[in-house]
Amino acid sequence: MEEYWKYSEEMMNFIEKSPTCFHAVACIKEMLLEQGFKELRETDRWNMEGGKGYFVTRNDSSLIAFRLPEQVPFGFHIVASHCDSPSFKLKEFPEMAMENTYVKLNTEKYGGMIMYTWMDRALSVAGRVVVQGKDGLETRLVQMDKETVVIPSVAIHMNRDANKGMEFNPQVDMLPLYGDYLMGDGMLLEQVAEKAGVKREDILGHDLFLYVKERGRFYGENDAFILSPRLDDLQCVYASARAFVDSMPKEYISVCAVFDNEEVGSETKQGADSTFLEDVLWRMGEDLNWSRSEYLRMIAGSFLISADNAHAVHPNHPEKADPTNRPYLNRGIVIKFHGSQKYATDAVSAAKMKMICEKAKVPWQTFANRSDSLGGSTLGNISTAHVSVSSVDIGLPQLAMHSAVETAGVKDTKYAVDAFRVFFSQGVSESCFTE
Ligand code: ZN
Repeated sequence: MEEYWKYSEEMMNFIEKSPTCFHAVACIKEMLLEQGFKELRETDRWNMEGGKGYFVTRNDSSLIAFRLPEQVPFGFHIVASHCDSPSFKLKEFPEMAMENTYVKLNTEKYGGMIMYTWMDRALSVAGRVVVQGKDGLETRLVQMDKETVVIPSVAIHMNRDANKGMEFNPQVDMLPLYGDYLMGDGMLLEQVAEKAGVKREDILGHDLFLYVKERGRFYGENDAFILSPRLDDLQCVYASARAFVDSMPKEYISVCAVFDNEEVGSETKQGADSTFLEDVLWRMGEDLNWSRSEYLRMIAGSFLISADNAHAVHPNHPEKADPTNRPYLNRGIVIKFHGSQKYATDAVSAAKMKMICEKAKVPWQTFANRSDSLGGSTLGNISTAHVSVSSVDIGLPQLAMHSAVETAGVKDTKYAVDAFRVFFSQGVSESCFTE
């Protein structure tokens, strides 16, 4: 039983160290380097050996790691997830002095968060800065752990409609209070520069975001639930990375792909809608001296699990869920279906996923949107538009998706790790994958 909490605790540690996508990628990199994986750069020639593991990053915010089996592989076994979360991004000149008293930060939305959940909560700033180094431009990660900013809500006495459903204007209602003008010069970028070990004028560029400072924790009877920021989708990122480093592939090249920019549509050079995955798989084939047709044979024999968290049935709003496909927290991996293929799952890929779960002794459940609701989209159909492999969309059940803090089940992290381990190490017999 303790195993469930162990994996979820490790996942919460990972989330705490990953306030932004840049930090999440740095964390996974550290984990891979510790396990003897070798970093490859997209600008270098690659030289790979069977039985070894490698990884590539793009923009320091997306990462693809892979491990080659000793024998000639049958194809790729890929798990894709995303490391960005909805947040507020700081604008280029972020400080806004107001009436010579307050200093606010000028921000804009990144992705679609539930805005009111970001109010009256301890937030801070993290991301990356680009500075002029000795040999050219250098990127430094920063996380302001001491500085706290808060987006204060308007008192109920000044807004009697506060509990009747509110509209929030991101340029007016959502700017965090940073400093008192009289008690300092209120320059956040000075503090950021100090943290990065440079002067403010040395910062030539920045990608800085607000993040929720609180650490994830267990709650509920028997600590059955997890309350944490960024569970979508760092819970799946953690589970896939953990399983990936723990597994030695036998017949398939195992691939752990972590993409940035899912929350803003994936259409960036490092998002799932870029050529990143395709480029890495193709270069791998080239380095292993595959012909074009050999590469296409590998792709035809491959399988992709797109892992992005799913909506569990809400305790106060059970009517929001589909009448017959109703996932619950702590009941296992959710296989997602969508008639118009917003999710990549089909009968064949669903069957494969169920067999993987059964092999891993992990429960599975199903999700579909109500037919009268739109729902969200995810990575599966986007990445398979570039690399056309058989794919399934899955996720771990959670509540309050895109809230500043979200709820998940303590057991489901381990379920995902166990299922991905089976998938990466090809514990599923070949006959299971024969169509
Ligand atoms: Zn997501």
